[in-house]
Amino acid sequence: MQHSRRVFCGSLTPEDAGRRVTLAGWVDAFRDHGGVLFVHLRDRSGIVQIVFNPESTPDGVFHRASLLRAEYCIAVQGRVDRRLPGTENPGIETGSIEVFVDELEILSESEALPFTVSEKAMTAFGAGAKTDHVAEDLRLQYRYLDLRRPSMRDNIMARHAIFQRLRRLLDGKGFLEIETPVLTISTPEGARDYLVPSRVHPGNFYALPQSPQLFKQLLMIGGMERYFQFARCFRDEDLRPNRQPEFTQLDIEASFIDEEFIYQLVEELAVEMFALGGITLPRPFPRMSWNEAMEKTGSDRPDLRFGLLFEDVTSIFADTGYSIFRRILQGGGRIKGINIAGQSEKLSKNVLQNEYAKEIAPSFGARGMTWMRMEGGKLESNIVQFMSPREREGLVRQFRAVDGDVLIMVADTSPAVLASALGQLRLHLANRLGLIPADLYRPLWVTDFPLFEPAEGGGVTSSHHPFTAPDRTDFDPADRDELLTLRSRSYDLVMNGEELGGGSIRISDRNLQRRIFTALGLTEEEIQAKFGFFLRAFDFGVPPHGGIALGMDRTVSMILNTPSIREVIAFPKNRSAYCPLTGAPSTVRREQLAELGLLGAGKKEVLPGPADGEDEVERLSWVSRIRVLPGERREIEETLRRAEALARQAEERAGDEEPVFSPAPAANRLRDGGEARTPDPAAAEKLLKLSPSVKGNYYKVPGILD
Ligand code: ASP
Repeated sequence: MQHSRRVFCGSLTPEDAGRRVTLAGWVDAFRDHGGVLFVHLRDRSGIVQIVFNPESTPDGVFHRASLLRAEYCIAVQGRVDRRLPGTENPGIETGSIEVFVDELEILSESEALPFTVSEKAMTAFGAGAKTDHVAEDLRLQYRYLDLRRPSMRDNIMARHAIFQRLRRLLDGKGFLEIETPVLTISTPEGARDYLVPSRVHPGNFYALPQSPQLFKQLLMIGGMERYFQFARCFRDEDLRPNRQPEFTQLDIEASFIDEEFIYQLVEELAVEMFALGGITLPRPFPRMSWNEAMEKTGSDRPDLRFGLLFEDVTSIFADTGYSIFRRILQGGGRIKGINIAGQSEKLSKNVLQNEYAKEIAPSFGARGMTWMRMEGGKLESNIVQFMSPREREGLVRQFRAVDGDVLIMVADTSPAVLASALGQLRLHLANRLGLIPADLYRPLWVTDFPLFEPAEGGGVTSSHHPFTAPDRTDFDPADRDELLTLRSRSYDLVMNGEELGGGSIRISDRNLQRRIFTALGLTEEEIQAKFGFFLRAFDFGVPPHGGIALGMDRTVSMILNTPSIREVIAFPKNRSAYCPLTGAPSTVRREQLAELGLLGAGKKEVLPGPADGEDEVERLSWVSRIRVLPGERREIEETLRRAEALARQAEERAGDEEPVFSPAPAANRLRDGGEARTPDPAAAEKLLKLSPSVKGNYYKVPGILD
């Protein structure tokens, strides 16, 4: 069959009726209906029903068709026909036609499958198979089968479409797609590096990039002006369900720009991307300072799909008689709360007291939680009697409380604990009460982050990375308190409570960059050792520049509304950062470690002899640098076994006798007809002159001559 004439299954329409076509793909499903064989043939474009009818299909073809099983790879030829009314299948793209087959080539058979690939029912209203119940590790182990499922194929194709759209848009705006190195030095993004040992520079390591940060800035210094890249980034972080040790980000940098340029650009990119998923994002995206986000939602990535914003009610209780609040206020604390409007029916006293106040709020770090319900124009709870009428009125006014509302409050001396506990309560309540509308997308720019955070052992660390421009430059790098008041010219793009990306305007002044490093506690030597090359570039005319990076796995996953980012990555690691398909990460041979200088290369105990669980043939093949072909393996194993048996036998027979190297007397052997040649000692001398060392009458030469 001529594959070049093949048409795609999913492309056939009723207009093709009567046409003779060649199709190829996989057997998605099959059924025998009264002696007529129906097969769903699937390729990347879709599914079409093909029919083998004993009356019209040649006998041989019909017989072979009866042997077809799921996921056989086949090619067929036949005639397209409209289906009879009532037999259409709206569940597949080509449900109003079918192809009557008269030629079949089985290209490749398939074993029984570890899970069902087929998702589409063969009859009009039949239920398609679901793969939800298949263990994810099994799907990942057989990812190539998993990718055949139409839903996975759709994800991968949508990802492709999104990437292409972004490429076209950025190209249209004069951005250059430029690759930066993967084998590089450490980039400070706050995670651990993955290290790659260098064989040719023993004891030295490359780091896989946590981001192309240094290079994209150097590209700006290099005059490229506008850069983008779908960059693979590597961060060795603790396991979290929706994280991957390697991920893809759309990395962007531009010169002679300010924050507004990035907002406009990224809003346009986001609107276009989400539109591909049928989602309309209204522009301009709202903006909120980090401070306001923390004050109002307790989170630096606020979910704005619902209300439940915080109110600060500290001043109402300035001279309260309620001892719990009084003590916290005396300790410099604050009291904040949320009006959960109109939810008192769903939040009984029992739920508020026994679940939220006793269990849930403490699990979020709060010391306690105060609750009240508005009933008959009054606040009701187990503690209202401790509050003065003025305090109660103050609460009703500030929360604008009406009957049916529930107020909750948390008091704490630590602003961070207060924000985090109330922030988590906000999300918990929104989820529990079903206050988060499906299909709503609320983008938000969070801006003006603190430049620094307090470091654990004193001092400060960068909240983002040390190249982020501060909001002012007249600070004292040695004054920790002042450093902690600085804000950065940074921005995060947040959507529905998830951070999709972030970036900043960069420092473009060498002295300022130096002072930031000093503020971070780096000595001059450390600055030179880590960033000397980078700072040197700042000596040669740096344009003002800034950029951003968008996490593409997360963004695509959100657009397609998949349960995890692994659904939009062709070959992801599982939740434990392990690849069930390839078995990575895996142990390596001791020889490899030795060669990399990681085991003290050359030390005797490292090399000879197989280690536990090691494959002897592979080891010998590696040591001798001779590749073993699959067909040779059995023979080599057999030979090895015999050699070992022989050695054991010899050992047993030898008893106390001295071992000898060879049972035959040593003598030179010459090929028949050849002449004995005595090597010229002078020539040998010349040849071996360069050998590393001489011992007695012997020259020591490397084990393997290149
Ligand atoms: N390098 C940053 C990151 O990966 C993004 C940026 O600042 O543009 O988070």
